[in-house]
Amino acid sequence: MSAPTYISLPAAEQKALFRRILERSEDKSSRAPVIVFDLDGTLMDNRPRTLAILKALGQSWKTRAPKHAEALAKANVDSLAYLVKDSVANLGVTEPELIAEAETFWKERFFTDDALSHDVAIAGAVEFARAAYERGAMLVYFTGRDLPFMGVGSFRSLRDLGFPIGVVGAELVLKPEFSIPDETFKRMEVSRLERRGEIIATFDNEPGNCNIFAETQPTAENVFMDTQHLPGAPALRSDVKTVKDFAAALP
Ligand SMILES: [Mg+2]
Repeated sequence: MSAPTYISLPAAEQKALFRRILERSEDKSSRAPVIVFDLDGTLMDNRPRTLAILKALGQSWKTRAPKHAEALAKANVDSLAYLVKDSVANLGVTEPELIAEAETFWKERFFTDDALSHDVAIAGAVEFARAAYERGAMLVYFTGRDLPFMGVGSFRSLRDLGFPIGVVGAELVLKPEFSIPDETFKRMEVSRLERRGEIIATFDNEPGNCNIFAETQPTAENVFMDTQHLPGAPALRSDVKTVKDFAAALP
């Protein structure tokens, strides 16, 4: 099965979309304007995190599987697939026991505070978040990361990348525990976000989450970030707009 393809808004419409959101960020005529941002694959590219973990795995394979160790050492973000087993397969690892080991090695590290320092901001994301915040929007970072193992690292990474955090009007919302499926959590929590004010825009890289926002927040600008997402995701609703990054928001 081939991956679905998404059609991004034309450049001029992307500019207009970001402009409308910034204008609504200033509007205090009714309830406070709220913008909801997912983190992974939306504001941040987490592929460098996976890459760093695979390079550490390669180090540990130096004597046991030197050819694979070398391939992993040379890997770059473009060799990565969504799933680790596919990423290592792309790099020539075919032995089932090594693939299983790679998955375990990755899983033990990827969902931890310390690994988050490798993440980088998506193009234009910091500038757009700051501009919206400065205009008066409340920012809610609404992530499927969990509070126990990724809360501190998420806060640190938002701060270090330059996103508004630790200030009035910027809030980090995480899953109370790792085992809750992201979509279940987002569906459960979205109505509570409305306590903050009027949700004027949402950004997420998972079609399932975007569909929840489109269904529950029909007056918001609901935006799908076409970066990477879980294989087998549901079809994206037609009222969700697609962009690949925030570059069109840059002046
Ligand atoms: Mg995401």
